[in-house]
Amino acid sequence: MGAAGGAGLDCKNGNLITREYGSWVFLGAVLTNVELVGDRPHTQHCGSCTRCIQACPTQAITRPFVVDANRCIAYHTIENRSALLPAAIADNLQGWVAGCDICQDVCPWNQRFSQETDVVDFQPYGWNVAPRLAELAELSEQEYDRRFPSSALRRIKPAMMRRNARASLERGE
Ligand code: SF4
Ligand code: SF4
Repeated sequence: MGAAGGAGLDCKNGNLITREYGSWVFLGAVLTNVELVGDRPHTQHCGSCTRCIQACPTQAITRPFVVDANRCIAYHTIENRSALLPAAIADNLQGWVAGCDICQDVCPWNQRFSQETDVVDFQPYGWNVAPRLAELAELSEQEYDRRFPSSALRRIKPAMMRRNARASLERGE
């Protein structure tokens, strides 16, 4: 990801970090025919920090600024549509069914600058906070539509949600 429009800094965990909020932000784009003057690119501000690289449970950040999707829990739980997760991913789920984000949790930019949103539409549905894995492991198509009527989690299709939950359950989560 580049520092598009001067929005933020390229970082060693592959995310884009803003000075105001860290990396917990939504990125958007505006299509326009207005002539705009480009911002100056941000400089790189990770310095000597390597917290994200050290903390990644699957060593997916293979070198600064390079994330190997094939080793990334977030990629596999959200994008990989195979029937089974690779063992190295399933063994590190820690009870999760969607994403990981340890590399963002440990980032000092987020620990210092992240802010909880006050946009109501960005809040999770109450019934999806701390869901039971056993229920997600048997999630029907109808129940999926009821639980996630309008949600970014719909990138995870029902069979993927069941797969992820079952993988966590099989490992005693
Ligand atoms: S999301 Fe998790 S698995 Fe993926 S690079 Fe970050 S820490 Fe590693
Ligand atoms: S944890 Fe450190 S190295 Fe990783 S993105 Fe944040 S500042 Fe950069």
